[in-house]
Amino acid sequence: MPSWVDKPMRWAQLTLVEDDPGKFDPRFWLDYFRRTKSDAICLSAGGCVAYYPTVVQFHHRSQWLGQSDPFGELVSGCRKLGMVVIARTDPHATYDDVQAAHPDWIAVDAAGKPRRHWASPEMWVTCGFGPYNFEFMTDVHRELMSRYKVDGIFINRWDGSGMCYCEHCQKNFKDATGHELPRTEDPQHPARRGYILWRQQRLFDLWQLWDGEVRKINPDACVIPNTGGGATSSLDMKKIGEIAPILIADRQARRGLAAPWANGKNGKEFRATMGAKPIVGIFSVGLEEPYRWKDSVQSGPEIQLWVADGVANGLRPWFTKFSGTLRDERWLRPVEETYRRYAGWEKYLRNVKPIARVGLMYSQQTGWFHGGNVEGHINGWYQALIEARIPFEMVHDRKLDEVGQFKTLILPNLAALSDEQCEQLRAAVRRGISVIATHETSLYDEWGVKRNTFGLADLFGVDYAGRTERRMQNAYLRLEHERAGNHPLLQGLRDAPRIIHGVSRLEVTPRREFPSAPLTLIPSYPDLPMEKVYPRQERTDIAQVFLTEGAGRVCYLPWDIDRTFWEVLCVDHFQLLRNAVEWATNEEPVVTVNGPGVLDVTVWRQANSMTVHVVNLTNPMMMKGPVRELIPVGPLKVRFRMPDGVKTVRLLAANKTPHVERAGRHLTVSVPSVLDHEVIAIDL
Ligand SMILES: [Zn+2]
Repeated sequence: MPSWVDKPMRWAQLTLVEDDPGKFDPRFWLDYFRRTKSDAICLSAGGCVAYYPTVVQFHHRSQWLGQSDPFGELVSGCRKLGMVVIARTDPHATYDDVQAAHPDWIAVDAAGKPRRHWASPEMWVTCGFGPYNFEFMTDVHRELMSRYKVDGIFINRWDGSGMCYCEHCQKNFKDATGHELPRTEDPQHPARRGYILWRQQRLFDLWQLWDGEVRKINPDACVIPNTGGGATSSLDMKKIGEIAPILIADRQARRGLAAPWANGKNGKEFRATMGAKPIVGIFSVGLEEPYRWKDSVQSGPEIQLWVADGVANGLRPWFTKFSGTLRDERWLRPVEETYRRYAGWEKYLRNVKPIARVGLMYSQQTGWFHGGNVEGHINGWYQALIEARIPFEMVHDRKLDEVGQFKTLILPNLAALSDEQCEQLRAAVRRGISVIATHETSLYDEWGVKRNTFGLADLFGVDYAGRTERRMQNAYLRLEHERAGNHPLLQGLRDAPRIIHGVSRLEVTPRREFPSAPLTLIPSYPDLPMEKVYPRQERTDIAQVFLTEGAGRVCYLPWDIDRTFWEVLCVDHFQLLRNAVEWATNEEPVVTVNGPGVLDVTVWRQANSMTVHVVNLTNPMMMKGPVRELIPVGPLKVRFRMPDGVKTVRLLAANKTPHVERAGRHLTVSVPSVLDHEVIAIDL
């Protein structure tokens, strides 16, 4: 592992555009890096455009480069500031001369045609899996490393731009799998399944080739391919976690429906396989959305809140700006203020580990081989845990051997699970870990092939009865308060005789006798004409939750409560989700926060301190993320078990010592008000 990776806490990125050389002012940027207390930098070097006098054949020098070396100039300026320096390359597009000399370096579409670039049609899209990357870009990376001895190389858009049908891909795929390249998206087709795996292998080979070559020149360097993510990301996060010494999460801003916690979610997803290795979160200062206004500036409060949620979730911030020539300077001040604030808090942000007892699982194999709306189920739980203010981590489904810190694991429709994973989950429950599972969890094997019944049927206590009601209209749940004896699952819903159901449910057959279920089915009935809207069955005995109390507790919900919650955000579903976590976890919470608002609460240990982060997401626009102003919430009472050897308690944002009550083993800290981000820092 390079010696520098854990050092930087605040990253800057300047992505030059081709006409920057000679036009932009490097001194302005160096001064800005200094003012923001940035301690690492990513600078455009080469690939699509070279910003230094390259001698690699076909490596396109900026037309404005002349005799200059803006990359080299910035590198030495940043070194003088003591910054870690990373070079950026982007290999995804090239030019006519390259296409003429090496037509086989160009990506080919399904119809056999070489691909022009979709946004810059004078350029060509390169093949990510053939000699362009394996040979040409390797030369570029070698040249960069030998000339500038940078600390690392960050490679953007290196993993191909979709399927490629070029001669190399055809041959390499055939040699590896015996199949022709797939022309179907169906993951059950053997060629598509083979492709999903082959593509990853190719990219990991490329990663390791580049990494090996740059380390031959500078053993204290590494490459950082831009990659990674959650359940729908295409490269295996477990393998990435094994080979990457540091990783950059590239989710720059909201897009579509994106709550401000989406940035923190990156941190949790990456940490699930990166563990304690540094994870950096790229944020854009502009608006993204599908239209990619790369030269835009968004509101200061929105930048501030997006970064705050990342920092509270263990991301080290990385701002990115495209173009060295500024056309709108409004972002400069909010980023500077945000960075200076986090520089002041640095020792409390050097986290050792998160303290969380709840693990929300995600499964890439479910995303790859089963598909469907995997994120919908995860996001429903994510939103519920945020609203419930329960600190939690995310857990990769192939890291089930490392779940000892958790009391409860949540399986949000984790459809595709192997026999081995099911056994690991059974063993976890035997060891006292509780499991909450929804809908089709374990109904498919790791390849997405349907089983006759759940892989976890014994844990759930039910078998799949063979039928799924895919879309229920106007269906309800009856809350069996009396029959289930005021069950804790129904807490907060005592006055509700019935609540809305989800949208899809599985029919299941109990394997054994269950005590009276707190939730039973009221089947769908017509929702039109209005005269016909009356229940045909007021009551059934069809249980819609299965609860088992053993060493660990098991809660199985055969319906899509989580996905429906994400779509509809019904408060009754929220109550059920929260109650399920509390029932399953069955112990004193890590922290409780009383007071108004929507808050992301995380708890961390550092070498000599403990921190409780409270990020105030309360905003009328929070569910799409366009924040116009930050709205303070408070007062809050934050109660947690006192760690050993408490010396002092401080509020970092308020910069004062709060009122603290000690009662037995507990501390209750009064936080008068939180604007965006408060940290209770406890020195030990
Ligand atoms: Zn290709």
